[in-house]
Amino acid sequence: MIAHDPNISTGLPVIRQLDEAAINRIAAGEVVERPASAIKELVENALDARATRIEVAYADGGKTLLRVTDNGHGIAAEDLPLALSRHATSKIDGSDLLNIHSFGFRGEALPSLGAVGKLTLTSRSAGSDNASEIKVSGGQVSSVRPSALSQGTVVTLRDLFSATPARLKFLRSDRAETQAIGDVVKRLAMAEPHVGFTLRDVSGGGAGRVTFEAPAETGDLFDALHRRLARILGAEFAENALRIDAHREAIHLKGYAALPTYSRGAAVAQFLFVNGRPVRDKLLLGALRGAYADFLSRDRHPAAVLFVELPTELVDVNVHPAKSEVRFRDPGLVRGLIVTALRHALAKAGHRASTTVSNATLGAMQPEPSEARVYQMDRPRDPYHTPQVFDAPIVHAPSARVEEVVEEAAAVETPLGAARAQLHENYIIAQTSDGIVIVDQHAAHERLVYERLKRQMAENGVAAQALLIPEIVSLSESDAALLLSHTDELAKYGLTLEPFGSGTVAVRETPAILGTVNAEAMLRDILDELHDLGQSANLQAKVEAILSRMACHGSIRSGRRMQANEMNALLREMEATPHSGQCNHGRPTYVSLKLSDIERLFGRT
Ligand code: ADP
Ligand code: MG
Repeated sequence: MIAHDPNISTGLPVIRQLDEAAINRIAAGEVVERPASAIKELVENALDARATRIEVAYADGGKTLLRVTDNGHGIAAEDLPLALSRHATSKIDGSDLLNIHSFGFRGEALPSLGAVGKLTLTSRSAGSDNASEIKVSGGQVSSVRPSALSQGTVVTLRDLFSATPARLKFLRSDRAETQAIGDVVKRLAMAEPHVGFTLRDVSGGGAGRVTFEAPAETGDLFDALHRRLARILGAEFAENALRIDAHREAIHLKGYAALPTYSRGAAVAQFLFVNGRPVRDKLLLGALRGAYADFLSRDRHPAAVLFVELPTELVDVNVHPAKSEVRFRDPGLVRGLIVTALRHALAKAGHRASTTVSNATLGAMQPEPSEARVYQMDRPRDPYHTPQVFDAPIVHAPSARVEEVVEEAAAVETPLGAARAQLHENYIIAQTSDGIVIVDQHAAHERLVYERLKRQMAENGVAAQALLIPEIVSLSESDAALLLSHTDELAKYGLTLEPFGSGTVAVRETPAILGTVNAEAMLRDILDELHDLGQSANLQAKVEAILSRMACHGSIRSGRRMQANEMNALLREMEATPHSGQCNHGRPTYVSLKLSDIERLFGRT
């Protein structure tokens, strides 16, 4: 690219000092990408001013009007011009950029907004008798005039990007911009549950329509946050969220993380904050992913709202103009804290599965609301008809024993109750004190075997069992080579392999706790995993992936009949085992229905 008018005498490009308006427009390019980014800056300013009520109004996706009203400490009349000038801030004195306790510190937002739209700043500072107002349009600042306002600050921004039509063209539909504004406000509302937020669409003029409302929550931080999250992410998230409260050295982690069974198809419910500031940080997102890796298949994403709090000198927030990225002094420490804290919380939640699962079940079980509804009792008895449920072999425990077990179960508070029956040779039906539980025996057992394998592995390696006759498995040359390159590792998992000529592997020992396994199928599964993981995965992930594949081969298959004592043993082991509420692929291992739910199904309540 060549400068427009080279110096006539030298022919060289002219270097010139840009004027203030151009500088501000350039800065605005970084800070104000779309209406939602303007809203982010303005709401952050309101929070920095210690507002307890913030109202955000917008029209036409924010393109024609944005207005943020707060009840914060306001700006003194004589400071209004300064607030609009570049690099002027009341939040830092510039001496220590690692000691930042406010959202803002760059002193760029208001002048940038004034450079790309028509901005009016009206404020009445605490203790002042009058309100004042200043306007800026296309970089032209007006004088300060008296105005009317009872408290706090109102910033109005009209016709955003009218001064930079090129930017205007990049904006998306009103609907998409409105959505982005909502996202920004909700994200900040998560960070400040004690502040009340209202979002209003005033596109049609007048008072408009409230599109989001979160009253100021009271009480302790966790309770307030829990209620706030229920409002923003829905009651279901709140019901399935585990409280996270952990620290390592001077770093704290707080928030809520959802059970693995409440996972999402995309990473849309992951909200991370560093010292109260919403961030999109690869390190933190990676840690969140890592913490759940063991419970979710790769296409499922955990849901969590997490706050990392640490001394300001351990994190640099001045690395991104929109302040959405940060840099940690010790990234490993932060990552470790997140992974450990979440894993610990998930382990403590044990067999608990998400309410989503039972709600979905109930939904599916609701009788069809058609006139074809026929109740069994209304039908004449058909001597040749046996209800379908008995078509499958069913294993009954001797009834006296079952009663004993039921009573025992109620008395020792066993959440998964006492096994009553096995249906279709895969589903265990258990009776609890206030409902029933349906267990997928294969999924549950697979998880238990996996957890046992992991325990053995952590203690002193998985015990191996020698095969009477080694099993010879034929593979491709490259697959055999890949497996054999992992011989030492696999031996620790109880799987002893030896080369057996071209493309062939001899299996000498298999993990003892798996019992008799189909060695070939297991090797092929492990190969899949090795191919999938490639060189990228860390050792821990690799071990877990391989153990998870192995577990699948040692599990009670569906189709196996179980005795009452075996079923009860399975239930008790599930209760005692961390993470047994979901199988290795993130599906639930059981669903629980309360009597009240069942009564609802039959229209009894
Ligand atoms: P920064 O937030 O980085 O300081 P801004 O350009 O966003 O820069 O704001 C400049 C200054 O204007 C702030 O430092 C603050 O003193 C004042 N200010 C802006 N918005 C508000 C508000 N809503 N309430 C009180 N003061 C405000
Ligand atoms: Mg600011």
